[in-house]
Amino acid sequence: MKSVAVVGASLAGLSAARALRAQGFDGRLTIVGAEPHRPYDRPPLSKEFLTGQMTTADLALEGDDEDLGAEWRLGVAATGLDRGRSLRVALADGSAVEADGVVIATGAVARTLGGGLAGVHTLRTIDDAAALRADLGAARRLVVIGAGFIGAEVACVARTLGLDVTIVEAAPAPFARALGPEMGTALAGLHEDNGVRLICGAAVRGLTGEGRVDGVLLDDGRRLDADVVLVGIGARPVVEWLDGSGVLLGDGVVCDAGGATNVPGVVAVGDCAAWFDPALGVHLRVEHWTGAARRPATAARTLLSGGASVPDTLAPPYLWSDQYGMRVQFAGHTLPGDEVSVEEGDLASRRFLAVYRREGRTVAVLGVDQPRSFTRWRRRVNEPAGAR
Ligand code: FAD
Repeated sequence: MKSVAVVGASLAGLSAARALRAQGFDGRLTIVGAEPHRPYDRPPLSKEFLTGQMTTADLALEGDDEDLGAEWRLGVAATGLDRGRSLRVALADGSAVEADGVVIATGAVARTLGGGLAGVHTLRTIDDAAALRADLGAARRLVVIGAGFIGAEVACVARTLGLDVTIVEAAPAPFARALGPEMGTALAGLHEDNGVRLICGAAVRGLTGEGRVDGVLLDDGRRLDADVVLVGIGARPVVEWLDGSGVLLGDGVVCDAGGATNVPGVVAVGDCAAWFDPALGVHLRVEHWTGAARRPATAARTLLSGGASVPDTLAPPYLWSDQYGMRVQFAGHTLPGDEVSVEEGDLASRRFLAVYRREGRTVAVLGVDQPRSFTRWRRRVNEPAGAR
């Protein structure tokens, strides 16, 4: 392979470029990124960057003297992928990058509610975070729409800044999609302890205000006053640019367990990619830092070997979140109906380790302020039943 184009200049794209070089690829490497910025780290955007403890410079993902020998095309989005004798990535400025191999790493964007009122935010990019930080500094009341991890972290920062915070969640329990209802409710207790008002089972009907948001209307008729609103209702994979390319799309780019797509010479990594997980028997799109950082090494091997390096197992998805000084860690994947039990600590103290089991097998582990036990239990995820 003489040339590779990496599309998406963030964690997964940078990790893929690094892995290609580390695995001996010495051909032409082009990295295309829609944002004007060099790769930066997103987790601090809802944590230390929002509180002001970290600056833009602290977020840089590249080392000071790192040189991948790549051509960077930043501030220009890929608009299409064509297959001819080689692969051709079309760019928004009318130019194109020809390559023998393509790494799709275009990540995800925050879902929005539409509208256009000032004071209504989503949080995905450094520019989003800077705008939210400025608005929180001048606000008294924050309403977070959606009880997911990013919304929870912003709620936590806003409480430390002294704001009055309400989280509204349409589902009956918070964090239920990731943690299941029981543990979602347990984690919600941490927020209530810290003065966050939590409203579950209520959908948002609309936002009020003229020019600038001043309230959130719920479908049960309630109206919540707000100076700032964070819409934290999840993210969707950025794959529209691949329409018509022949690359198979589902919830993201459909890949095998090595990151290969259905198109020879094209792999996908990070938040935009739904890899086949042999342990679960399904394609799963994982929106977590660790997968975006680690799986590109596998995808690079797949690309350089012509698609022949599908592993038997994948490391279970892993995420962490920092809330009120506690580290929340989750590894694995839970489904409705899994049994969950607290194995260490207790829910009342908000410090606990919970294990999710399906047919006797450990399928996921949740730790709240239990880093040591979590590391121990995490190794058991997806081990065959009765292995210990
Ligand atoms: P992204 O980081 O989304 O990058 C994709 C890049 O591709 C973007 O720069 C985008 O502009 C670019 N792009 C999109 N379309 C095009 C195009 N057509 N052409 C060229 N470029 C394009 N994970 C955890 O595990 N723990 C955490 O605590 C945590 N906190 C988070 C907090 C926030 C606020 C956010 C937003 C995410 C957090 N995550 C966390 C998730 C983690 O940051 C992501 O999983 C990771 O950034 C995914 O990397 P990626 O490279 O796949 O995608």
